[in-house]
Amino acid sequence: MLRVAEQYAGSDTGRQRRANEDSLLARAPLFVVADGMGGAQAGEVASRIAVESFQQGLPDASHPELELAELARAANARIHELSHVNAEQAGMGTTLTAVYVGEQDVAIAHVGDSRAYCLRDSELLRLTDDHSLVDELMRQGRLTPEEAVEHPQRSVITRALGPEGAVEVDTRSFRARAGDVYLLCSDGLTTMIGEDQIAATMLAHPRLRDAGEALIAAANQAGGRDNITVVLLRLEEVRPGAPAPVADGDTMVGVPAVSAAQQSADGATMTHAPAATATPPQRLRRTPRAAVPAAGPPRRRRRIRHAGAIAFVLVVLGLLGSAGYLALQSVYFIGTNSRGLVTLFEGVPYQLPGNLDLYSSQYVSGVSASTLTPEKRHTLLDHSLRSEGDAAALIRSLELEQLE
Ligand code: CA
Repeated sequence: MLRVAEQYAGSDTGRQRRANEDSLLARAPLFVVADGMGGAQAGEVASRIAVESFQQGLPDASHPELELAELARAANARIHELSHVNAEQAGMGTTLTAVYVGEQDVAIAHVGDSRAYCLRDSELLRLTDDHSLVDELMRQGRLTPEEAVEHPQRSVITRALGPEGAVEVDTRSFRARAGDVYLLCSDGLTTMIGEDQIAATMLAHPRLRDAGEALIAAANQAGGRDNITVVLLRLEEVRPGAPAPVADGDTMVGVPAVSAAQQSADGATMTHAPAATATPPQRLRRTPRAAVPAAGPPRRRRRIRHAGAIAFVLVVLGLLGSAGYLALQSVYFIGTNSRGLVTLFEGVPYQLPGNLDLYSSQYVSGVSASTLTPEKRHTLLDHSLRSEGDAAALIRSLELEQLE
């Protein structure tokens, strides 16, 4: 049978966020990463509730997939309920990736865009599909990975715990092997460094603590635009009945702002980070636009704007029926088209189920997003809803190379 021989758990605020809204639980044989989203510390609350739901472990571990999904749904219900109690927490949500190591299999439950990987025979296998719009489009063959990198809806996730009363949880079981190393991580890692680099970093550092710290350092070196959470575990084969090497005992730690890598080669860790103002993602039926904080780091802002825009769209569509569609024509945003050119779009950056785009391209600039500095790219392509005049003026100054 298999057991966890070594583990690492670390979370870092990154270089651009003021707060860490990721939470994690590392308590062999159960490991959880949650990436919270929501204004005014709500993201931190949501991710913490998610990991707390797993704190007691599985009820009896006879059906790990079902039990993981049940705990995830319980967390969803709690977060959803709480989001109605406090206006500041309206629309809060969190991703969830949970892994349970059984005797032969690893069971995984998953919602959102935090990922699970297995490193086996020097190869990194991705065990989860992101619940994000671009991932869905790629799976449908409608978007290439290259296009996805600059897609205007890149940060929209399509499933999370909290925003809706019910959530669909993906589960799977993966036949594990001794020597496997599993990685759970928030998108602050995977949006900053590619899978090749992740694999190379893990292979270059046989000790999990070294590997985890190197992964976090690499994401920071690439810009550290988001909170970075990394959980690693290595499996070994033991004869049934052998004592577990991983100590029990569970700590819950408020992660301080910088480099809050929570270590445990040999123990359990549960962390969450104290939060400053930050924000959420998602899809339908979410934060009313008025509840959206104006400030916040870029990706959160983008996400919350999506949420606001989507809520706006639904309200409009709901109230006005198809006539509501016309209301979308008064808002604009700047994104990139499929060729990576900075483009003025009319409407809101969202696609309804059934591939109904709520935006259309109005003007394609001659400027490729890849030529912009990261700062400009983030300022310009944050998908803020703008007036036509503002958006057009921004693009014009960009074309004239006068953009501040
Ligand atoms: Ca994140």
